[in-house]
Amino acid sequence: MRFYTKLIVCLLLCFLSMPLCAQISCLNASRNIRIGLVSQGLPDTWKIEPSSGFIEIFDQNKRQSVYSGKAAEIVITAMKGGKMKVAVDARKSLYYFSNELLFSAVGRPPINLKVRAGGRKSFSYRGSIAIFPQSGGLRGVNVVDIEDYLKSVVPSEIFNRAPDAAQQAQTIAARTYAIRNLSRHSDKDNFQLCDKVHCQVYSGIAREIKAASKAVIETAGKILIYGNSPANTVYHSNCGGYIIDSRAAWKGASVPYLIGHFDGISGHKPFCYYGKLIKTNSLKGKLPAPQKKIRIAQLSSAAKASTHKNFGHRVGMCQDGAIGMAAIGYGFRQILAFYYPGTQLATMRYAVPTGKPVEDRPIVVASLPQTTPVSLAAPPNPTQVNALRRSGKTRKPGSIKGALRQISENGSGYTAVGLRKLFWTPGEPGISRNIY
Ligand SMILES: [Zn+2]
Ligand SMILES: [Zn+2]
Repeated sequence: MRFYTKLIVCLLLCFLSMPLCAQISCLNASRNIRIGLVSQGLPDTWKIEPSSGFIEIFDQNKRQSVYSGKAAEIVITAMKGGKMKVAVDARKSLYYFSNELLFSAVGRPPINLKVRAGGRKSFSYRGSIAIFPQSGGLRGVNVVDIEDYLKSVVPSEIFNRAPDAAQQAQTIAARTYAIRNLSRHSDKDNFQLCDKVHCQVYSGIAREIKAASKAVIETAGKILIYGNSPANTVYHSNCGGYIIDSRAAWKGASVPYLIGHFDGISGHKPFCYYGKLIKTNSLKGKLPAPQKKIRIAQLSSAAKASTHKNFGHRVGMCQDGAIGMAAIGYGFRQILAFYYPGTQLATMRYAVPTGKPVEDRPIVVASLPQTTPVSLAAPPNPTQVNALRRSGKTRKPGSIKGALRQISENGSGYTAVGLRKLFWTPGEPGISRNIY
């Protein structure tokens, strides 16, 4: 009986899984998005294994179930004339489907699907898998909750051991990028985003890590908006010290929040310089204290030279810079306000279980940029960071090594927890080896 109840719930969910649209006003329509598994090509066969041992196969066009019940392995094979056949555990065969079929694991959690395209290696996905004939082969699409999608995308896009605030900023940038680009592929493709660099790299459950999943949950539904649309939250690996204007990189119209500026606090080395040090386990140089106001300085033509090697297009958020900012105590709001000045943080309705919609009054994280300083709220733990730095009599005050060690010894607190996790996990490789 319980199984059938779950089946009904699952069917209802299938009916409700309408594509998200890119307008802010209807972002609450559904959480499910369609990710084309284009990295798997267009093979003749797909094999699907439901983790629960039960499968629901649903004809998307006829809106009816074609099979539901026990299944260890389902093989979908292309037939002549744009049709496909489905074999369930080699005991039951279903023929002549030209419509999209949606495969969903049902039953006891964990509910996911192990998928093998042709002779390739298998991948496991959350959500459902849709298969349909296309250009002589079979296309696979992962129909997945956007929040689950992000759990896999974020670790593919940023350093695994990046501090919490950098993970959160990256998550919001990735979520906004996904929402903004839902119409990137044509209707003919029949999916919204692909799983390659073209959209954002996505390889399913195997790529998920705890720190990123935590960041996804903590920032659930949050995106950056400018005016009434999702902002163009482009990001790159390392700007080399100076973020460049989007016009300098790609021509086109000026984007107010993608302006050129120094990546840091004036008088100090750029944030990404420290971020790079953190990633390469090299602890040298002075760590700047977080400041309440960060001046978004316009660049003079003489100041555009890189201070170190850059990597990426240098527009928008510098990921190593975000890591550097997070390491000295800035939160994700400040990181995003610094790299996308003038944007606002909004929460999509789907992320709010009950009560009033929150994006009617977006949280303002930054005022408009230009030459005046951008006002920012105090970082989560600046007092602690500064107090620790000042009280470090036995150690060199101001050095990264000293400051980080003091923070780790001080115990609880946002910064301390983030850093300890990053640097002092016993038995884990990383910077800890250089510290002790
Ligand atoms: Zn794409
Ligand atoms: Zn940078």
